[in-house]
Amino acid sequence: PPPLLSVRDLKVHFPVRRGLLQRQVGTVRAVDGVSFDVERGATLGLVGESGCGKSTTGRGILRLVPPTSGSVKIDGREILTLDPGALRKARREMQMIFQDPYASLNPRMTVHDLIAEPLSTHGLVSSRDEALREVARLMELVGLSPSYMRRYPHEFSGGQRQRIGIARALALKPKLVIADEPVSALDVSIQAQIVNLLASLQRELSLTYVFVAHDLAVVRHLSSEIAVMYLGRIVERARPDELFRSPQHPYTQALLSAIPIPDPDVERTRRRLPLVGEVPSPLNPPSGCHFHTRCPYTMDRCSAEAPPLEERRPGHWAACHLTELPTAPTHP
Ligand code: SF4
Ligand code: MG
Repeated sequence: PPPLLSVRDLKVHFPVRRGLLQRQVGTVRAVDGVSFDVERGATLGLVGESGCGKSTTGRGILRLVPPTSGSVKIDGREILTLDPGALRKARREMQMIFQDPYASLNPRMTVHDLIAEPLSTHGLVSSRDEALREVARLMELVGLSPSYMRRYPHEFSGGQRQRIGIARALALKPKLVIADEPVSALDVSIQAQIVNLLASLQRELSLTYVFVAHDLAVVRHLSSEIAVMYLGRIVERARPDELFRSPQHPYTQALLSAIPIPDPDVERTRRRLPLVGEVPSPLNPPSGCHFHTRCPYTMDRCSAEAPPLEERRPGHWAACHLTELPTAPTHP
């Protein structure tokens, strides 16, 4: 069978317009040729700093922003060419969990109405009783007491609000869930609860996830594979244990060395590779390898030529002109 999600050479470009006549002065290449597969029931962790295009990749897959070109197949069916009616039906299969459960829930709707809305929009419930039963079932599924269904979002904590967001996303029984930094806005103490909830829902419902995060540590235990993005491109892709043990791209090394490790012995042997500066603008990104303005190993070739994403060992892909990094940092 085909992978549940197959993305090929996805591009999402935005025109930049200025002045009274709104003349196009450039193009932001937010997503610039991204490819990956996610098998049924698996999780792709999509990681990078803010502005690297990871959220836009997620939104492009769901056509919440219009892709410029490429292919997105769910269960082998092309999504990017669906007409609006067919897309509306296909939306049931692919849902999004948003970063900010405060901003993504309408404050004037009760929890019942928030969760029942997608059900009635898609004609999945035929009576108020049926909606009530389905909302109660979904609330229990995400660990909320159905006795709260007449309450409003502001009466809940951040973690509970994210549970409401998850219930809403699961109402249509999707196959694919794109979670856009679902725990970044939450207290650290609550983050693990939500990650664990998503993991157990995945097992129970055979969900396939794309989990977007800026923090490698958050996706490590949840992901079947991790893809690291930089300025619209995937620079490295591997299974989490492999990626943490031997990162092949200097950018991944830098992200990993930013993760604090409590063990001082490990800390002493580990090579620090601090990331300097900000991600450059995706409008006129650096030539060649986009990372050359921040890479400690940059060579003449790097600003002239973009390195292709190549398979270095089975299942481990990297895009860098260096075939071996000077000193690989160890990471437990
Ligand atoms: Fe650094 Fe060059 Fe590799 Fe890019 S291609 S990551 S600039 S060494
Ligand atoms: Mg984002």
